[in-house]
Amino acid sequence: MGNIPSREAAIHMQTARRLPITLVRGKGTHVWDDDGNNYLDFIAGIASNTLGHADSGLAEAIAKQAKTLIHVSNIFYSEPQIELGEMLIEHSALDRVFFVNSGAEANEAAIKLARKWGIQNRDGGYEIIATNDGFHGRTMTTVAASGTPAYREPFGPTTPGFVFVDYNNIDQIKESTTPRTAAIMIEPIQGEGGVNVPSEGYLEAVRSWCDQQNLLLILDEIQTGVGRTGTVWAYEQAGIEPDIMTSAKGIGGGVPLGAVLSKEHASVFEPGDHGSTFGGNPLATAAGAYVFRELIDGGILENARARGEQLSHRLNGLVDRHPLAIAEDGRGLLRRLELSEELSVDVVTHAREMGLLLNPVRPNRVRFIPPLNVTEDEINQAVDIVEESLTKLEEK
Ligand SMILES: *Cc1c(COP(=O)(O)O)cnc(C)c1O
Repeated sequence: MGNIPSREAAIHMQTARRLPITLVRGKGTHVWDDDGNNYLDFIAGIASNTLGHADSGLAEAIAKQAKTLIHVSNIFYSEPQIELGEMLIEHSALDRVFFVNSGAEANEAAIKLARKWGIQNRDGGYEIIATNDGFHGRTMTTVAASGTPAYREPFGPTTPGFVFVDYNNIDQIKESTTPRTAAIMIEPIQGEGGVNVPSEGYLEAVRSWCDQQNLLLILDEIQTGVGRTGTVWAYEQAGIEPDIMTSAKGIGGGVPLGAVLSKEHASVFEPGDHGSTFGGNPLATAAGAYVFRELIDGGILENARARGEQLSHRLNGLVDRHPLAIAEDGRGLLRRLELSEELSVDVVTHAREMGLLLNPVRPNRVRFIPPLNVTEDEINQAVDIVEESLTKLEEK
């Protein structure tokens, strides 16, 4: 055993600022560390543990598949891949799917699709308009598409062809559109950027601009999809449909899995254009199929909606009572509490000491992304802890 943090420091690349906690097991919304401390987990593997920890049905589905067939490569057909694919197509506005292992890979595939589509349909147009504070991953091309310069500047030159505009600003999109443009790539709610909900009419305006100009709309639903915002996909709430959509995070319930989906007219990949050794392998897609079935038929989507309303209501109560809490926003179980000062790390640290894990997504914003099967009691417990944490800081 030994001391895990010091062993990590000796051998691991120092890319993450980790919390001083070694988690050893979980159940539902709870996790335990190696000292036996119990925490309520409102980070959920960064919005990935859709069904919480150690869900017995998911564990069984994974174990059953592991004992049957883990991996075969895409040289062969496999049933779980097709089963999950059919469900995703049935429950989305898209027509075709390709499976990958992560969010960044899904976006890489989306960008490749848009580039090829641009060659064929935009006279070689290749530029993609993306947003400041947007996040699309950490590979060379997805950092080039992400609107946080610090993520790409140390690694230049990154992939060219990305143009940045402010989120929620349709005029800047219009001004930035040229004959070189092929697509617009945005998150229906910016997640890593601080849980930024689009203003009324923004996504609709982007959609109609794409229609008018013959551009593809790529929606990155990696954080917002699979029920996170209270509908299967966040775009449903704007009454629009993307041409290309990416999914990852919650789709595998914690098992690495991602997908790119597209409308038939944007499905320009031909044999040989793209591939993945592990993408959509039987183990990951069996997990994904179990999660998706629970989402649709097992009451998880309804729970996400109801618990999201409850969380929003309770966070608004904090805003009413605490000068440090100034606003609440979000959809479903992707929410943020905005603070009047840059104290989100302090709020989160106090909360952790009281047994609640939360993410300070911005210096003045705390993000709430619990499992979608979180209970009513757990939401109340979490908000009670945040309230205590705010009270402590206000007393200082
Ligand atoms: C997390 C995230 C990604 C990157 O996913 P990885 O699995 O870490 O590669 C991309 N886009 C959005 C919106 C995300 O939240």
